Amino acid sequence: MPSFSNTYLREANLIGGMWVAADNRKTLNVDNPATGDIIGTVPMAGQVETLRAIDAAHEAFASFRHTTANERAGILRRMHDVMMDNQKELAELLTTEMGKPLAEAMGEIAIGANYLTWFAEEGRRVYGDIVPSPWADRRLMVRHEPVGVVAAITPWNFPSSMLARKIGPAIAAGCTSVIKPAESTPYSGLAWGLIAAEAGLPDGCMNIVTGDAPEIGKAMCASKKVRKITFTGSTKVGKLLMQQSAETVKKVSMELGGNAPFLIFDSANVDKAVEGAIAAKFRNSGQTCVCTNRFFVQDGIHDEFVEKFTKAAEALKVGNGAEDGVQQGPLINQAALDKVQVLVKDALDKGAEVVSGGDVIGGLFYKPTVLTGATDDMRFATEEIFGPVAPIFRFKGEQDAVDAANNTDYGLAGYVYTADLGQAFRVIEGLEYGLVGVNEGVITTPEAPFGGFKESGVGSEGGRQGIEEYLQTKYVCLGGLGF
Ligand code: ADP
Repeated sequence: MPSFSNTYLREANLIGGMWVAADNRKTLNVDNPATGDIIGTVPMAGQVETLRAIDAAHEAFASFRHTTANERAGILRRMHDVMMDNQKELAELLTTEMGKPLAEAMGEIAIGANYLTWFAEEGRRVYGDIVPSPWADRRLMVRHEPVGVVAAITPWNFPSSMLARKIGPAIAAGCTSVIKPAESTPYSGLAWGLIAAEAGLPDGCMNIVTGDAPEIGKAMCASKKVRKITFTGSTKVGKLLMQQSAETVKKVSMELGGNAPFLIFDSANVDKAVEGAIAAKFRNSGQTCVCTNRFFVQDGIHDEFVEKFTKAAEALKVGNGAEDGVQQGPLINQAALDKVQVLVKDALDKGAEVVSGGDVIGGLFYKPTVLTGATDDMRFATEEIFGPVAPIFRFKGEQDAVDAANNTDYGLAGYVYTADLGQAFRVIEGLEYGLVGVNEGVITTPEAPFGGFKESGVGSEGGRQGIEEYLQTKYVCLGGLGF
């Protein structure tokens, strides 16, 4: 029995419409990072269960692919309503397993629901083409068909909405899926099975397995029945999945790591920049792939920015995300906390200064931290911090800042604050990043494509582009028409 009661908490896997245990009955514990308490268990599934889930998805695809876009849009709209009618319940489940403040969890459920309606609408606009024919007696058409069974692997930092961005377009396109949520936050992933069933998604169209990640991933990649793999997580695992998928030439979408720069120029409105910087750094305790990893602040406003930013960081209320008014929760686990400490120590050894924070509060809670004097030999210049630490680099010239911002293998999100329109355009065009926020620190929305350059990924989620990842193009030539 789980130690926490919630309508959407399931300690089982979903395969072909049945909630089941692992064949060998083994389980994994799931804990609450704010308290260390065990919430409950989930099945420790592996290859056998994954293959069964793939078979169920494959069987369901045979009929689901023939449903109309309108029928699928109806299912997605009902899923949206189930989520919004139960927003608080789902948010509480999310906060309990992941740690983020309840207000952020409420927002995550809402944006996830929003992705569903966005794709419900996009699914009805998957137009084909009639192409002018070079032959008098032939007609040419192009249609877009669902790619087939989709395997989706997601991380713990947005355990609900990262799936919305995959499930939404998959259903809209007519695909069926096998999902593997992260080990530390499986319940928000499993909850999708209940949401889908309540909304009338046929059995087998969505299957969810938890357990041995490498084994499940390998089974997904090796299966010829899986035609697409969509992954959000680390660049390291993304590369592995791409390699493993090469054997069966799957379509792949990868949302991988980031090393977001945040550039603040002398002309910027410093108060607005501070507001954007706080959101872009400390949201989710710094544990998002679009969270700022490096602040670059121009000489003329450096000290003013540091002073105001530090004051705002110190005002953040840290604590158990389930408590009222908390703005920053714990880190996800001990390894995440250890990494933050190692990166801060490395920076201090190399000459950075702590302006605020720099230590653990207790448990998995780390103080919002501001460091100045950051230089590019420090580890966070190239490694993702994934925690509430803001390193500040000082710069003089515009091109120096753009070059420094691009000096990384990643290319997901970048931010720039400036009041100079010409400068804004020069920097937008100079940044090698898939997402750019100009005078805005939080820019993700279902209407816009989300995807990285370089080693930050392949493909886009959201926007009108998001559904294309779940479709394949078929050219049809109709001949012998007798013209
Ligand atoms: P993080 O470091 O943020 O946990 P990971 O890339 O390790 O990022 O994890 C993201 C997702 O990838 C999780 O669901 C995790 O279980 C899964 N994962 C980790 N290793 C593998 C693997 N070898 N094959 C398939 N999935 C994996």
